[in-house]
Formats: sequence, C-alpha cells, structure tokens
Amino acid sequence: MTARMRLQPEAIGLGMTSQRVRDRLIDRLRTGGIVDERVLNAIRTVPRHLFVDEALATRAYEDTALPIGHGQTISQPWVVAKMTEALFQGEQPMPSPPHKVLEVGTGSGYQGAILAALGMEVYTVERIGELLRTARKRFRTLGFNVRSKHDDGRIGWPEHAPFDAILVTAAAPALVDALSSQLACGGVLVAPVGGSTAQSLMRLHKDAAGVITQTTLAPVVFVPLLSGMIDR
Ligand code: SAH
Repeated sequence: MTARMRLQPEAIGLGMTSQRVRDRLIDRLRTGGIVDERVLNAIRTVPRHLFVDEALATRAYEDTALPIGHGQTISQPWVVAKMTEALFQGEQPMPSPPHKVLEVGTGSGYQGAILAALGMEVYTVERIGELLRTARKRFRTLGFNVRSKHDDGRIGWPEHAPFDAILVTAAAPALVDALSSQLACGGVLVAPVGGSTAQSLMRLHKDAAGVITQTTLAPVVFVPLLSGMIDR
C-alpha cells in the first residue's frame, strides 16, 4: 500500500464517521426542532457508528433507524434526541435532566449511552440475550456506567424503583401500568403508544401529588414491545 493510499480515510470509511459528518447530523436535528444543547452535544460526542455492525458504520450519522439484528433497530437520531429532551423537566432553555432513569429496550445500547453521557444514572432492560450482551460490551469498552438486566421490561425494575424518568423504546397498544407505577412523583415517562404501523410518542407526567397528565409529542414508528425473554 502506498503512503498516499494510507492517507485516504474515505477509502476505509472513516470519512463517513468524521466530526464533519457528525456536525451535519447535529444541524439536521436542530432543523428538526431539537433545541437542548446538552442533548445535541451528547449526540455529537457518543460514537453512534460503534453501536451498529461495521458494515453499517458509514451510515451511522444519517438521521435514520438501522437494523441491529433479531429484527430490531437502533432508533433514528431525531427520535433519540426528542425522547431524551422529553425526559427533562422545567422550562427551556434550562430544564433539568432526571437523575435516575429506566430504559425498556436496550437494543444496541445507544440510547442508554446518550442518557449516561448526560450524567443520568441509567438502568436498562432488554429481552433478547444476544443484543444485551453486545450492548454491555459497548458500555464497558466506551466507559459508560449503565446497569442492565436481561428480562421482560414490561415488569420494569421494581428493586430500583422509583425512577425520575422512564423511557420505553418499543411500542405497545397502551401505556404499561407496571411502569407508570414505578415512576417517582414529579417524574416523566416517555413511550410510543399504538399499533404495528403507526404510533404516537406519549409523555406522561406524574405531579407531586401523584396526578398524571399526558401529552402527545410526535408520530413515530417503533418495533413492538413483546412479552417474555429470548436467551440467544
Ligand atoms: N433503545 C434502543 C432501541 C432498540 S429497539 C437503541 O438505542 O438501540 C427496541 C428494543 O426493545 C429491541 O431491542 C427489543 O428487543 C426490545 N424489547 C421489546 N420488547 C421488550 C420487552 N418487553 N422488554 C425488554 N426489551 C424489549
């Protein structure tokens, strides 16, 4: 190999994961209405290309969902940003991030890593064993302190409840009661609700007296929230 060839990062795909390409994604998220600089900064710094298969790394900074195996997907960056912003409480420009968060549906581990990068104490649950093992390796390699468990996340994680925020990254026909009951007073739950082809991203807020209010944030498409666990 000549020196000139070695100096061409595009040839080995590195160009597609460069800071310039990441900054272009951030511009796109801003255009899409994402305003919180802390969230944008987490997306700029967490290497999404390390949360997908190497063959897809060159597409990691496109604003699109990508397959991660087992029929599952890593969420679209705009959806990750929107859900993360929705967990914050109080008025822009400085709403506060929640302290302790439960994520249902670890998948690639990317969303969990974004929450950890924002300083949250993250608990994540995944029903497919192999996806969880791969995500755990990524957390370890990249130094993210994320607690995880292999289980049906519809039961939540009662031993660590209550949570200041709960994020569900797979869609169910209705909000899961076991999860809202693990939400602290003052907490927020964000989840896609609906059928298999179209869902609404819902935000549920439990006030200091335990009274719940719901708002609809955006139309979204997620893989389904399924019952039971898969070992492999
Ligand atoms: N947050 C993920 C998105 C993964 S897609 C990421 O950043 O990559 C949704 C994930 O939810 C899939 O991995 C799927 O296996 C998982 N899932 C579906 N139903 C579940 C359940 N009942 N409990 C835990 N995980 C579930």
